[in-house]
Amino acid sequence: MPTEVVTMDKIVSLCKRRGFVFQSSEIYGGLGNSYDYGHYGVLLKNNVRNQWWRAMLQERDDVVALDSAIIQHPRTWEASGHLERFNDPLVDCRACELRFRADQLEQAQCGRKPSKHPGETADCDLTPAREFNLMFETTIGPVKDQGATVYLRPETAQGIFLNFKNYLQFSRKKPPFGIAQIGKSFRNEITPGNFVFRTREFEQMEMEFFVPPAEGERWYERWKQTRRDWYVELGIRPDHLRLRPHEPDELSHYARAAADVEYLFPIGWQELEGIANRGDFDLTRHAEYSGQKLEYVDTASGERYVPHVVEPAAGVDRAMLAFIVDAYDEDEIEGETRTVLRLHPQLAPIKAAVLPLVRRDGQPELARELQLQLRDRFQIEYDESGAIGRRYRRQDEIGTPWAVTVDHQSLDDRTVTVRDRDSLAQERIAIDQLGDELEQRLRRPWRSPKLAS
Ligand code: ATP
Repeated sequence: MPTEVVTMDKIVSLCKRRGFVFQSSEIYGGLGNSYDYGHYGVLLKNNVRNQWWRAMLQERDDVVALDSAIIQHPRTWEASGHLERFNDPLVDCRACELRFRADQLEQAQCGRKPSKHPGETADCDLTPAREFNLMFETTIGPVKDQGATVYLRPETAQGIFLNFKNYLQFSRKKPPFGIAQIGKSFRNEITPGNFVFRTREFEQMEMEFFVPPAEGERWYERWKQTRRDWYVELGIRPDHLRLRPHEPDELSHYARAAADVEYLFPIGWQELEGIANRGDFDLTRHAEYSGQKLEYVDTASGERYVPHVVEPAAGVDRAMLAFIVDAYDEDEIEGETRTVLRLHPQLAPIKAAVLPLVRRDGQPELARELQLQLRDRFQIEYDESGAIGRRYRRQDEIGTPWAVTVDHQSLDDRTVTVRDRDSLAQERIAIDQLGDELEQRLRRPWRSPKLAS
């Protein structure tokens, strides 16, 4: 295997330099662990979301979409168990005044002696652990004291359960079927960190798959595999992915079985996505707390049951980080080090850059014409400033798979060169065929060039 050149510092610096991710509120000194997504970050995240929707909706006919409210009825969180149990154990250190998760002290650094863990030095003065609820509270109504306390959702899943009845009525679906949603979630994490890996505001892609009770285990096995394969199809190296089943003492209160898709980040193996067999916990609890019947009734046979639920729950930001980390590479071209994001072309923020070789002789005009022709079908970038080599490097750094160069020959025979980001091969292609050619290249199965052949 080629040596890994990627570090979290390099990723953070590339993301800032090339406008993927910025520290939020930077002009005010930044707000800890809050990030803003810049132009290329927005495009890349859109592509991640689109690929998820594609796999969930377009390529199947048993999943439907939802976009539910972030602030829901507060009883939701009583029924789901979040008010009572969505806690992390927190300790304060009176000496360095930092806060830590009591169950992760061995991963934290002492505020005074970073080579030690909290509690390891004689000066450390840790309080006993106390439970800390991770939900953000706010108030509905203009007068704070008299308003109702509500919560920013800590997961998108509950919005799906609240709508289960609506979906049975309007969608004419019967189990097995799923409801999928993408949206922001909020958790007041005690120790956020590692860039966008763990933040207090993040985006989730969750799908609740409702099945007849006897089929829960089978669907759980299927969804584990399907979700792992999604990352591989989008170019993540299989040797950097694994499925890790939860130990019985790790299981959440609602789960019968759970496993994580984990990725080997520069900070070690970490969760990318969780897949859980939630049994009938959620529908039963919401039925109990709302007084509504949340069950499936087969009108033909009269059979009625509370479906079991299998849930794949992924994070948009974490997936994006994994795609960038896995794509990051450095090589040498003509004695110069090149940084390149070897992203799956479907994920690349820009599919092709259109570059006139020189800024005269009609080349910019022809390149503009080409840009107009292509942008109907793809996210294109036009760039005429600077030496061609530098323009190639800029595109390599943001992962653009193809650079299309208009040169003097183009004006004679209406062909252009297409440079491949990974192989660096240059091919001459007729302008009239370029759109179809790029379309075909985008559809081809793709494998990371970082994998040993
Ligand atoms: P962790 O153990 O990392 O805190 P979790 O098991 O609590 O995660 P889930 O509740 O299963 O996470 O959420 C599903 C997915 O949402 C996670 O796999 C992750 O991709 C994403 N996610 C959860 N918390 C955060 C966060 N604070 N920041 C960014 N993404 C998150």
